[in-house]
Amino acid sequence: MTEPNLLQTPLETLPNISATRLELLGRLGLRSIGDLLFHFPRSYEDLNDVRSIAALSTGGIQTVQGEVVEIEGRSLSDGRQIVSVILSDDGKNYLEGVWFNQPFAAKRFRYGQRLSFSGKPKWFRDHWQMNNPRVQILDSPSSLPQRGGVQGGSPGIVPIYPLTEDLRPEHLRSLLRQAIDRYASHLVEVLPSSLRQKYDWPTCAQALRDVHFPPTLSAAARGRRRFIYEEFLILQTALALRRREMREEGRAPVLTTTPAIDARIRRLFPFSLTADQDRAVAEICRDLAADKPMQRLLQADVGAGKTAVAVYALLTTVANKYQAALMAPTEVLARQHAHTLDRYLAHSRVRRLLLTGALTPAQRRDGLAALAAGDIDLVVGTQALVQEEVRFARLGLVIIDEQHKFGVHQRARFRRLGGAGVSPVPAHRSDACPTEPHYLVMTATPIPRTVALTVFGDLDVSIIRQLPPGRQPVAARWEPANQRERVYARLREGLAQGRQAYVVCPLVEESAALDVKAATQMYAELCAGPFRDFRVGLLHGRQDEKTKATIMDRFRKHELDLLVCTSVIEVGVDVPNATLLVIEHAERFGLSQLHQLRGRVSRGPSAGQCFLFAEPSSEEARRRLRAFLRTTDGFALAEEDMKLRGAGEFFGARQHGLGELRFGNLITDADLLRAARKDAFELVAGDPGLRRPEHTLLRAAVLERYGKTLDLAEIG
Ligand code: ADP
Ligand code: MG
Repeated sequence: MTEPNLLQTPLETLPNISATRLELLGRLGLRSIGDLLFHFPRSYEDLNDVRSIAALSTGGIQTVQGEVVEIEGRSLSDGRQIVSVILSDDGKNYLEGVWFNQPFAAKRFRYGQRLSFSGKPKWFRDHWQMNNPRVQILDSPSSLPQRGGVQGGSPGIVPIYPLTEDLRPEHLRSLLRQAIDRYASHLVEVLPSSLRQKYDWPTCAQALRDVHFPPTLSAAARGRRRFIYEEFLILQTALALRRREMREEGRAPVLTTTPAIDARIRRLFPFSLTADQDRAVAEICRDLAADKPMQRLLQADVGAGKTAVAVYALLTTVANKYQAALMAPTEVLARQHAHTLDRYLAHSRVRRLLLTGALTPAQRRDGLAALAAGDIDLVVGTQALVQEEVRFARLGLVIIDEQHKFGVHQRARFRRLGGAGVSPVPAHRSDACPTEPHYLVMTATPIPRTVALTVFGDLDVSIIRQLPPGRQPVAARWEPANQRERVYARLREGLAQGRQAYVVCPLVEESAALDVKAATQMYAELCAGPFRDFRVGLLHGRQDEKTKATIMDRFRKHELDLLVCTSVIEVGVDVPNATLLVIEHAERFGLSQLHQLRGRVSRGPSAGQCFLFAEPSSEEARRRLRAFLRTTDGFALAEEDMKLRGAGEFFGARQHGLGELRFGNLITDADLLRAARKDAFELVAGDPGLRRPEHTLLRAAVLERYGKTLDLAEIG
């Protein structure tokens, strides 16, 4: 697709292009030939559906040809001006074209004139109507739609471009025509010919013509899909190369799980692992036992027990006399992981360190020294773990409890820190060849399949769907505002029976404009009123780490009954005795967030209950709440969430570092993504350096787009 110099040719070089038009194009972000050629229509209007008035129906765009029998301009009672032009094609059936507030529209027409109207018909009282129809004047040849130019385009299919007010569609089309005629046949083909044949894709030049001047709607769609496929192929080839590079070229310590080690680890759990957990453990152990660095994503539904799997991997590493690190997205979670490990390892000799911002400088210094000396086996921390001054004696495994936070881009950075900043020297091996750690990343909530294939597309995936046995589904109810007292009474009843509860508020400070109940204010109200007989705590993101830690500890130890909090508890907080949850302004939370929150009260054997208060102001918010109430399957909710919010919103491109997709859409083009992924991985397996001549251009495109972000510079 890219011959860079050609596509970067400035638009000025097109003949007869005025400064005004250049300026208008610039406002659309169109400055080069490439910008223009790849400025695709947002949709198409098909004016080929020509019918008699008698045969019109509601639905899509239809076109009618007839004679003007009436022209009328009048004002409506609300002050709007209306122009109405009535066509008939048989003297019996009538179609009324209606324009609002365009008094000049009437001047274009005269009685007896032959016109065609295109638009979506609707039945009004006793005749068909079209609002703002597209008009062609049939008896004046000069006003027929422009034909020709690019060969084969159907004049009946009108591309609709995302435009600014002042750039007229016909101007854009004439520029496109020139650009295609002059440049399209010089564009290079990135797609290897075998893949082009496999799908019978049009050439790049043909696809551009079909997108901008389609002979048929299906040709337009096909042209566009060709570019989507190409975009996905470039991305997936980059991911395949990266995966290969990490797996095949990296060296990692061989960490074996003997039956004795396995038994020793399992004895630590007060439960036996579920089948899904066992499978994930087996997959991880297989990776750890190879001398290639594991690159694995562990996805689990909320509460399905991925921490136990992580603990298993950490302890296998330690049993092999290597150090292991667990990195959490927040201090609250790092502390909780440390606490979980403390519980499992109460009687073991595994030497542990919790590295967070709450340490004093002296504690931190001593901790770091012990890590570097190999006197620590297991370290838990926040992002602080990957800072420059952190050194390991022999790091074998890094687990990142990722919470969507770190994309593929950041992972490349961790790897460098892991490899260069850290110097893992295998203590028990004579061949002290430097290795890098194994690597496991966990997501906090399930993510949609297509997102996993892109943002985590360089990783192998283990999935835990199954919840531990005896887990009861959380009943979630959307409560009307007037039921607040009853909900509080239910909470008090639960607390009196020895349970604990969360009340989650969306914002910390009162914001009148948003009318959000602030956690602080809610805390004050609940302490003074409905829960004055209980021990109530407040937890929010603006408290310092010490305060947060203290509050969480007290809640965990059941020194608090009720925790009023912001969504800081959203991820991972694990207090099985907490079974009651109130979510205020639930409409402000995303679906995955709600699912995470609900997960806080389904962690033990007793049934959790979740009460929502919500004032959805949009249909989208209502749909989101309904979806949440309908299912407790986190994988299904993730797909739904992405559909409701759009792929871009769901996973900010900047966040994952791969950049926007220009053509493809992770929701609507999932089939092409899968196909391109399969092709890309096969291609890289057969030609790891992309050195074959037919792969040269693809390789160039991959390096240009992803070489830097994915650290691919070395290939080739
Ligand atoms: P998440 O996947 O949300 O991180 P956790 O690992 O925190 O889930 O586990 C949720 C709860 O389930 C914890 O309290 C944990 O002790 C418990 N749990 C995990 N695995 C099992 C199991 N196989 N059987 C019973 N309880 C389990
Ligand atoms: Mg957890």
